[in-house]
Amino acid sequence: MTESLPAHILAALEILILERTDINAFKIVGALPTWFATLYPQVSQSVDRPWIEEHLPFLANFLVDAAEFWQQNQSGIYKSGMWCETDHRRQEIHLEASALSLGCKKVLLVKASEGDYIELLSFIQKARDSTLDFIEERKQASESILKTTFYDALTGLPNQTYFLIQLAHTFERYRRKEAYHFAILIINIDRFQSINDSFGRLAGDQLLISIAWRLKKCVRDFDIFARLGGDEFIVLLDDIDTNSAALLAANRISAELKTPFRLSGQELFLTASVGIAQTFLDYDRAEDLLRDANTAVSYAKGIGRANYVVFDPTMHARAVRLLQLENDLKRALQEQELNVFFQPIVCLADQRIIGFEALVRWMHPKLGLVSPLEFIPIAEETGLIYAIDRWMLKEACFRIQQWRKFTEEPLSVSVNFSAKQFDQADVVFQVQQVLRETGIAPQHLMIEITESMLFSKAQSAVDTLYQLKQTGVGLSIDDFGTGYASLQYLQQLPVDTLKIDRSFIKQMDVDHLDLVRSIIELAHDLGMKVTAEGVETAVQRRFLLDLGCQEAQGHLFSEPVDGQVAVELLQAKKMNGLKDW
Ligand code: C2E
Ligand code: CA
Ligand code: CA
Repeated sequence: MTESLPAHILAALEILILERTDINAFKIVGALPTWFATLYPQVSQSVDRPWIEEHLPFLANFLVDAAEFWQQNQSGIYKSGMWCETDHRRQEIHLEASALSLGCKKVLLVKASEGDYIELLSFIQKARDSTLDFIEERKQASESILKTTFYDALTGLPNQTYFLIQLAHTFERYRRKEAYHFAILIINIDRFQSINDSFGRLAGDQLLISIAWRLKKCVRDFDIFARLGGDEFIVLLDDIDTNSAALLAANRISAELKTPFRLSGQELFLTASVGIAQTFLDYDRAEDLLRDANTAVSYAKGIGRANYVVFDPTMHARAVRLLQLENDLKRALQEQELNVFFQPIVCLADQRIIGFEALVRWMHPKLGLVSPLEFIPIAEETGLIYAIDRWMLKEACFRIQQWRKFTEEPLSVSVNFSAKQFDQADVVFQVQQVLRETGIAPQHLMIEITESMLFSKAQSAVDTLYQLKQTGVGLSIDDFGTGYASLQYLQQLPVDTLKIDRSFIKQMDVDHLDLVRSIIELAHDLGMKVTAEGVETAVQRRFLLDLGCQEAQGHLFSEPVDGQVAVELLQAKKMNGLKDW
């Protein structure tokens, strides 16, 4: 560094004064003013040579930025780590391009000047010119290193490393400046995985670029907007004075996403979950702010997505609960805390029970009943889902096979497969084994998978589907309408039944029958049966009957019940009389 940048410029600007202390190490020294040394006690920290060489291009660019910024002489203004301030009382000008934290290292690019301002400016001008020359020489190297170190290759946005550096600067400012506040917003695109699964990674990447540039419009120029990775973005909202600034930004983000995106000729409607943490709560460390924004975003996801949530300390309790569930779930299977519940699937025309959907239940010894909506995602993350799905499959088939003696009707059981279970190499073998062990006829087992699982990695999923079909079991598409499958695509697959998601059934009234009607009609044209999920009212049942839907399940008929109650329902033959309608 001392060789590449002319010594007189370094000396004049007192920027990054390095002294070799060892063959591989430099020490930062220099006659720094006392005010500076108090602010940055780490000033004499050693940095080693390979590290400096690695980051040289970035340091040089930073220097040019600093020189330009100082030249504009915007007194009292901060800009990404640079500072220019006039102390009229002492007739001093302080210029600073503050400490850079790169990884665990700190490097200082500094100038503090007292007195002759004009002379200083001409020095800066010189420094700038020669730095530019220097950069020109190193341009190639500089560009690639800069890019890979600080920018996200896909979207061109700053990356996490860059964001963390800026966060450290901003946090420093928050600590030393009274009444200065900022906020962090973590933005996570909802259900992005199913877009990747449905359209492929390449299309998913394309979409991420569009999302990135749309979201960037929602923040001000001097805020920092970066991609954390995957479908997660982060904003640093600089210099805010009330709570509402972050909420307004979150509002702009959700409004910006309302306009549909176009991907592979289709319109996509996206939502995002946003977690917000702000310095209005007292913070000692920047990491804690990040942690809290993360907690807030998972909270937002947990309460049903398309939400923004400002962190408050009670959320820690929820994070702790999730951790506890994760630990306890490992035990739950061995300790027989899991149980199968059954929800009747009825023939709409005459209310006969034609089958049951098997739904897992967890009776936690301390917390009571825990919803699968809460623990299935944990099981998927930890891999416990394999054991759970396998156990559910066997247990459900075994029970149904026993119940055949209570009814002459053909009785089927529907079992849910998670994406992970479906992707297992031996899934077909597992199904065959359960069929053998329990003696259930294959046509009495329905396997439920969601739309998005089919479009993952395309061919292997389709192969699995055909192999499953060959064993003779039935296949249902669960939660139909919430993914991105078209019926035409499903037509090519050996699917027997579509289960219309309950969100569609819920909206159904005289004015909103069209969507459900067209799903039912198309499914029938393609030779599939339709099961309506979440039927809660007699009015919905009537509409569905009129639209030609054959099967339904929902609270109108029965909630999921334990095995014993299920047998009682079966013995009553019909759902009739159990509920009034
Ligand atoms: P799902 O497959 O869509 O299951 C239907 C869910 O809707 C069940 O919730 C059921 O209790 C609920 N439901 C049924 N009728 C009504 C109604 O009329 N109104 C309302 N509001 N809700 C109704 P549950 O049992 O909490 O299960 C939630 C989800 O957990 C399931 O959604 C499924 O995705 C997953 N799940 C449950 N058991 C298993 C399992 O054994 N393996 C896997 N992989 N996932 C499971
Ligand atoms: Ca299901
Ligand atoms: Ca469902």
